[in-house]
Amino acid sequence: MQDALQDLISDLSGGVSFSRASAMLVTRVTNILNCDVCSLFVLDSKTQNLQLLANEGYRDIEPNRIVVPPQTGVIGLVVKRKEPLNLTNVNEHPDVYFVEGHEENAYPNFLGVPILSQRRVVGVLLAQSEYDEFSEDDEGFLTSLATSFATHLSHAIATNEIALSSVPPKQREEQHFRGYAGSPGIASGTAVLRHPHAQLEDVTYRVIEPSEIDHELMEFNEALAIVVQDLNQGRERMQSVLGAEELALFDAYLHMLDDDSLPQEVRTTVMNECVWSQTAVSSVFSRHIRELERSESSYLAERGQDLRDLGQRILAAMQRQDHVDNDIPPNSILVAQEVSASMLTEVPAENLIGVVSVEGSMNSHVTILARALNLPAVIGAKDIPLLDIDNLSLIVDGFYGEIVVNPAPATVTHFEELVHVEESFQAELEELRDLPSVTLDGERINVWVNIGLVSEISRSLDLGAEGIGLFRTEVPFANRNRFPTEEEQRRIYREHMQAFDPRPVTMRTLDIGGDKDLPYFKIEEENPFLGWRGIRVTLDHPDIFLGQVRAMFKANADLEGILRIMLPMISNIEEIEIAKRYIEQAYREVTEEGVNAKQPQIGVMIEVPSLIFQRQQVVKLVDFLAVGTNDLTQYMLAASRTNPQVAELYQEFDPSMVHALRMLAKTAHEARKPIGICGELAGTVEGAVMCIGMGYDVLSMNATNIPRVKWVIRNITMTNCRRIVARALRMQSSKEIFNFIREQLHGAGLDKALPPHEPPAIFF
Ligand code: PEP
Ligand code: MG
Repeated sequence: MQDALQDLISDLSGGVSFSRASAMLVTRVTNILNCDVCSLFVLDSKTQNLQLLANEGYRDIEPNRIVVPPQTGVIGLVVKRKEPLNLTNVNEHPDVYFVEGHEENAYPNFLGVPILSQRRVVGVLLAQSEYDEFSEDDEGFLTSLATSFATHLSHAIATNEIALSSVPPKQREEQHFRGYAGSPGIASGTAVLRHPHAQLEDVTYRVIEPSEIDHELMEFNEALAIVVQDLNQGRERMQSVLGAEELALFDAYLHMLDDDSLPQEVRTTVMNECVWSQTAVSSVFSRHIRELERSESSYLAERGQDLRDLGQRILAAMQRQDHVDNDIPPNSILVAQEVSASMLTEVPAENLIGVVSVEGSMNSHVTILARALNLPAVIGAKDIPLLDIDNLSLIVDGFYGEIVVNPAPATVTHFEELVHVEESFQAELEELRDLPSVTLDGERINVWVNIGLVSEISRSLDLGAEGIGLFRTEVPFANRNRFPTEEEQRRIYREHMQAFDPRPVTMRTLDIGGDKDLPYFKIEEENPFLGWRGIRVTLDHPDIFLGQVRAMFKANADLEGILRIMLPMISNIEEIEIAKRYIEQAYREVTEEGVNAKQPQIGVMIEVPSLIFQRQQVVKLVDFLAVGTNDLTQYMLAASRTNPQVAELYQEFDPSMVHALRMLAKTAHEARKPIGICGELAGTVEGAVMCIGMGYDVLSMNATNIPRVKWVIRNITMTNCRRIVARALRMQSSKEIFNFIREQLHGAGLDKALPPHEPPAIFF
């Protein structure tokens, strides 16, 4: 039964539609349990009715017509108790209920299990049998199945895939959905749905005559040329808006179609297997996609999606589908299952105001590009009613990752006002660029930038960055198909240092692992966030570490600015000592080579809670501390930063975090060492005020957030920030602390700097 369960679960998650999955579910359950009937019910949250969705065993019933009223029948008890009910003689149960076409009492043996999603019952899975009682094994089987089917069912409910009898079809009322805040800003416009042109999976396996091979190869070559040409044209269109590093992403994309790689494999498949060229494209691309998608790394999985996009474009060209549809009206919001980098380039930039992608993550090309193009974007919007969305009016809130479908006129007006407020505040912020970050009572706070792409340099300086607080060196490592050489690294680092000179530049040594993988250096682990990450990797690979540090010294030679080397994911003292020895070695090596290197400042990131308890020793060994709140929060609260299931537990304002941050700042100051924050917290207005009040010397953040935080610093007093911290330290929940800081900002007349509206209700 275990194998049957695994097979069924895997078949259900194999990309089949919900209606097919439901039909498959009930049929297979009757076979596996050897019972007479299996039924799948959905709970209509509005009416609390249970509506039959799929059935195996009863004859001639129309599933959607069968509705069990609230709290009725034995099935109603399953909902009420939220637990399985296994009965041998249901006829005698006082609650038994009779519905025409679906008799609870038709079979004496009854096994019902609730389908639960986020603690709520969303449906019931029911098995009935004439002769055989259901065993404990059967109960376990059905419960496991219900647990894994819960995601399908709740997704289908959210996306209106299920025609609930209480909801008129194609309902046009305002609906709110949630995704990741991919790129900040608000866009209000019309959805333009893009479909992938042709599905790799839909191509049939067709054998051809040897005499047809040449023709098939020609078909493929022509299609390939069309796709490459389209991509090149897209790249050209983007050249003026994107920097060199983002354009390199396009090159990586195009590189996948280099003649000697995948295309050659397709040709060989056509020739050796004597198959249709479309069959060959489908099988070669699908194989590579599967390999990439099997990887635990989100980076590689994203590359799998790039490959799918390319394969499907080639198919579309072979099927003579209209491969480019440029005609989109002004104020368009591009929506797709997987918005690809190339889709973005196909549409005229002046008509595009926002992006929504069902698939994707913070690593996706589309997210990086949307940010570079300054387009509000929500990514990973799993529940939007994709099939119905074309031409509907839409609001994309890239501040919070919210999407409003069919906004009511009042909602549109509200968001449009927010856009205006935001625009006029942005204009005010532009004037701050060259003004110092000083509080009203004269305390200087350093506002630095977190950076990774060369193209972000000028934008960061334009937005007023006074230094680099975090250079994520893994970014230039990830944009390649091999490790960059020492000289390649030197050039990239030098570009940043030169542009910022004499401002300080903090170079973090390679921080891979967790959710950050390099395409050419796979780390496959069961529990990657607790595995081989950051300094653990580079201390095991002194070649990488030394090469990087040497490149940093060389890049810094002859410049005025101080080189700051920062060590990520340190969890004990020994790691600091070893890393320092390697840094000394690199320093000796480069000076022996004649490089005019200066002694660097060495700092550690506080990301692992163990260091909080060793802070007195740590601070003695280093020149500065920087708190990486993104990771510290996840390790402090044991809630992964990338898992939406536990997103509610991942709270940067949790009292434990507030106390930890305070303790770290106090220790650093007692030792007269500077301390900064370079997690996302520093770039939020609420977090910045709290960290200033705790005495943090450096706030390092994404360039976009700099002007807003600087504005707050210039309009608040240190005394007020300290008072806020003193009160926050006595509070008991992140919500209480967060709301309190917001209230204080409102009270001080600083609400303009908060995102132009409160977090939407769906966030709590
Ligand atoms: C952090 O963990 O807070 C941090 C800045 O590092 P990253 O987000 O790159 O892991
Ligand atoms: Mg980190």
